[in-house]
Amino acid sequence: MASEFEIIEQYFSFSNNNVLASAPASSIVVGVGDDAAWLKLGSEHLLVATDTLVSAVHFPADAEPADVASRALNVNLSDFAAMGAVPQWLTLALTLPDNDEQWLSKFSASLARGCAKYGVSLVGGDTTRGPLTVTFTVMGVPATARTSVASDDPSFTVPSLDGAHCLCRSGAQTGDEVWVSGSLGKGAAALQMITQNHSARAAWPLTDRQRENLHAAFYAPVPQLGLGKALVGVANAAIDVSDGLLADAGHLASQSKVMLELNGDALPMHPALASLSDVALAREWMLSGGDDYELLFTVPKKDHDKVVMLARTAGVACTLIGKVVDCAEYDEKHGESVILNGDGWEKPSASGFKHF
Ligand code: ADP
Ligand code: MG
Repeated sequence: MASEFEIIEQYFSFSNNNVLASAPASSIVVGVGDDAAWLKLGSEHLLVATDTLVSAVHFPADAEPADVASRALNVNLSDFAAMGAVPQWLTLALTLPDNDEQWLSKFSASLARGCAKYGVSLVGGDTTRGPLTVTFTVMGVPATARTSVASDDPSFTVPSLDGAHCLCRSGAQTGDEVWVSGSLGKGAAALQMITQNHSARAAWPLTDRQRENLHAAFYAPVPQLGLGKALVGVANAAIDVSDGLLADAGHLASQSKVMLELNGDALPMHPALASLSDVALAREWMLSGGDDYELLFTVPKKDHDKVVMLARTAGVACTLIGKVVDCAEYDEKHGESVILNGDGWEKPSASGFKHF
């Protein structure tokens, strides 16, 4: 049976043939397969990303409308963070089970707050009746017009056009360091806490503060836009951790045609997982839980100190978790594009969330 990613590759990647390295007046610089599409219109550049959140799939059916709006918006903006791009405009396709005005007013107020906070304008959309589904399409521009340092390197695969540059999944180079922002495991932990779907394994003591943190991590995940922007011209490749660390590391590796070697012992664990007595479960949440919306990125070794500096300036903890290695016998179909080292670390059987 076809997986989500096989479906995309088999049925919806046909326009990728039109991706042109020597971009003509209007063209696709980066099409299907990255966190956002990167389009060129004359001398201007446009980035576009879309994400759908379905009730009872991406958030509990009884979630507060304000929380649904902030989660949907921030998750979408996270893809822009992963591109190092600046979001500017937004459309909203909203499917509602009914016209509950109280719900709408809370949803709208929260969305308006989010738009103001991140400087994006809602410019269109569609409103229909059906099971609650929220789809945002975010549009924006590259963060910078600085000349890509890496474009001098003939093996470098990330486009840099007219000085515009974005972070792509495809630029990782053998020898790069692999970094991740923030902490891991909070998305899965929050889901457990919110759905109270506690198996004996997953029951763990949480302080009120930790509960608040996890609630916020789930319903208002912070899109790492500042860090993403700062990484442009420094990182060779980036992706946001939405499906799960191993799954997203796999996407980055396959787009870059490299392998990633990760050190489990180095992974930054969210503090709320510390009191979980089942260590294997905590590890599973960090590796494949997903919904963390942190940036996973690769940087040339020589730029190690730059990352330390820019992370400090952006106010985001960043952790070195591995390295990019060559893959002479690379075979993404076998899922071997990510190697996991560390004391007793094993890959969970499911590496990340997949709809199919
Ligand atoms: P992300 O987790 O960053 O949102 P996805 O895993 O949802 O990315 O999608 C992977 C890539 O496939 C993205 O480039 C996305 O735009 C593309 N994609 C997903 N679904 C479709 C579709 N139905 N048609 C065309 N492209 C798609
Ligand atoms: Mg993404």
